[in-house]
Amino acid sequence: ITADEWARAIASIQEAQTICLACHVNPDGDALGSMLAFAQALRAMDKPFVASFGDAFVVPRILRFLPALDLLTHPDDYPAEPDVMVTFDAASRDRLGSLAANARKADEVIVLDHHSSNTRFGTTHLVDPGAAATAAVAEELIGRLGVPLTHDMALDLYVGLVTDTGSFKYAATTPEVHALAGRLLATGIQPEIVSREVWDRAPFGYLPVLAGALGRATLEPDVAGGLGMVWTTVTRADRAEYDLPYDLIEGVIDIVRRTDEAEVAIVFKEDDEGAWQVSTRSKGRVDVGLACVALGGGGHPAAAGFTLHGEVGHAVERLRELLAEIEVVTRI
Ligand code: 5GP
Ligand code: MN
Ligand code: MN
Repeated sequence: ITADEWARAIASIQEAQTICLACHVNPDGDALGSMLAFAQALRAMDKPFVASFGDAFVVPRILRFLPALDLLTHPDDYPAEPDVMVTFDAASRDRLGSLAANARKADEVIVLDHHSSNTRFGTTHLVDPGAAATAAVAEELIGRLGVPLTHDMALDLYVGLVTDTGSFKYAATTPEVHALAGRLLATGIQPEIVSREVWDRAPFGYLPVLAGALGRATLEPDVAGGLGMVWTTVTRADRAEYDLPYDLIEGVIDIVRRTDEAEVAIVFKEDDEGAWQVSTRSKGRVDVGLACVALGGGGHPAAAGFTLHGEVGHAVERLRELLAEIEVVTRI
C-alpha cells in the first residue's frame, strides 16, 4: 500500500459527510470484525456512517458475540448512491452481493482487503496481499486516523485475525501478526472466550450431522497428480433432522482437511436455499484458489470457495480435471 493511497483514503474519510461501509456477503469474522471495528472508529470521530452487508442480512451465529453489532443497518436502508464507500474483505465487487449496485454508483470506493486476487474495483486501494487479515489493514487505518483502540474495537479486530489465521496456525502467521495480536490483547481481551465462541461450541445435534458427513467422506488418492483429494457433503436434509442451522457447519472442513492422504480437502455444504457452498483447502502444494476461480468463486491459495447451483458429482469431476491441470508448487 503506497503512501499516496493511505493519504488519499484518509483525506476522503476526513472530508466525507457520511461514510458507507460494506463487507462481503455471508460475512466471516474478518469481514464483519474489521467493518465493526472501523464503524466504532468513525463513531469515535463523530463521523456519520452506515454499515451493512448484502443479500441475507443475517449475522452468523458464531459471530453474534461481536461488539457493536447494533451499529449495523439493514441493506434496504443503505444509500443508493454513496459519496464515499469503504469495503472490507471483498476481493471483487460482486462479493458485496446486493450492495455491489451501490458500490457501482458510489463517487469513491476505498477497498480494504488482503486477497491477492483482488480485482481493484474501487478508486483507492488499501489492499495488502501480505496481510494475514483485512483486520490488520483496518487496524493500521484506524491508527493513521489517530483513533485510539478501545477494548471493543480490538475485540472485533482480534476475531478477524484469529479466524483468518486459523488461530495463528496458517502460514500467514508472521511476527507482525503476533505483534498485532499483542496490541489487541493489551486492551483486555480474554482469548479463551474468543476461541470458545468461535471454534469450540455447538448444539448436540452437531455431533450426528458431523458423524454423517465424516462417515461418507471419500478419499481419492490419484487426484492432483497423486497428492490426493478428500471430499464430503453436508446436506440440508441432515441438518433439518437435527434442527442444525447452516452457519454451524462451517467448521466441518477443519476436520476433513486433517486427512494425511489428501493434499486437497473439499466440503460441499447445502444451504437453506438448496445451493451448495463449497469450501476447499490445500496443505500448500496445490493452489485451490485457482480451481475455485475457474468455478466462479475465489479465495486464497490454501483456502478458497465457490457456490454451486448444479450437482455435486459434476463439480467433483470438474475439480478432478482442474486439479490435474494446476501446477504443483512446493510451498505456500
Ligand atoms: P470458507 O471455505 O471458509 O467459506 O472460505 C475460504 C475462503 O474462500 C474465504 O476466505 C474466501 O476468500 C473464499 N470464498 C469462499 N466462498 C467464496 C465464494 O463463493 N466466492 C468467492 N469469490 N470466494 C469465496
Ligand atoms: Mn472473508
Ligand atoms: Mn479475510
